[in-house]
Amino acid sequence: MEAYKYSGNIVIVIGPSGAGKSTLLKRLIAEDDRLVFSVSHTTRPPRAGEVDGKHYFFTDRDHFQRMIDEEAFLEWAEVHANCYGTSKAHIEEQLSQGLDVLLDIDVQGALQIKRQLPSAIAIFIAPPSYDELQRRLENRGEDSPEVIQRRLNNARSEMTQMERFDYLIVNDNLERCYTELRSLVAADRFRVYRRQETARLLLEKFKS
Ligand code: 5GP
Repeated sequence: MEAYKYSGNIVIVIGPSGAGKSTLLKRLIAEDDRLVFSVSHTTRPPRAGEVDGKHYFFTDRDHFQRMIDEEAFLEWAEVHANCYGTSKAHIEEQLSQGLDVLLDIDVQGALQIKRQLPSAIAIFIAPPSYDELQRRLENRGEDSPEVIQRRLNNARSEMTQMERFDYLIVNDNLERCYTELRSLVAADRFRVYRRQETARLLLEKFKS
């Protein structure tokens, strides 16, 4: 009997930019071979080093609009004047292989998915304070003061949405935060509804 057989689920991770999300998710994907990244579609032009089909599926507005019209997206949103969307076909293909699919999307997209698929798990990663977030964004040295201020304003509004999600992790210690995140993903795999095949096989053994 396959003791660890379970169906795939959607894992959404949300949180302000600078909360440490990318570092955590990269490590999670590298260390968990049952977890894969969802590759979104976007109308944003590729940045240096970004590969089509790996980081995003880069598309133009017309194609994106056609996909909206054909209801090809599980969710989509406009973020910073560009469109981003999660394709149903892409997700279904991965779920059907029993893989968990990790979505790094914005708050609007996460809420759209939770409305349609309440069993998807949504984990909010928060920075420990406004001051600490500001310090991290400044130390990162990636953004101009204007962009940092925009990210901080976005963070203020994203933090007000926290209670709409399933789990809250505070990233004041990267190592502990990683362990917590990993535990949540692992625990979800043992929910009975995800283990129907295992339950059926067990019941068979208890038939009189
Ligand atoms: P970036 O352009 O920096 O890669 O991403 C900008 C924002 O778009 C991030 O907040 C990211 O979480 C969000 N995003 C990326 N892909 C998707 C998607 O498929 N759907 C939604 N709703 N947001 C996305």
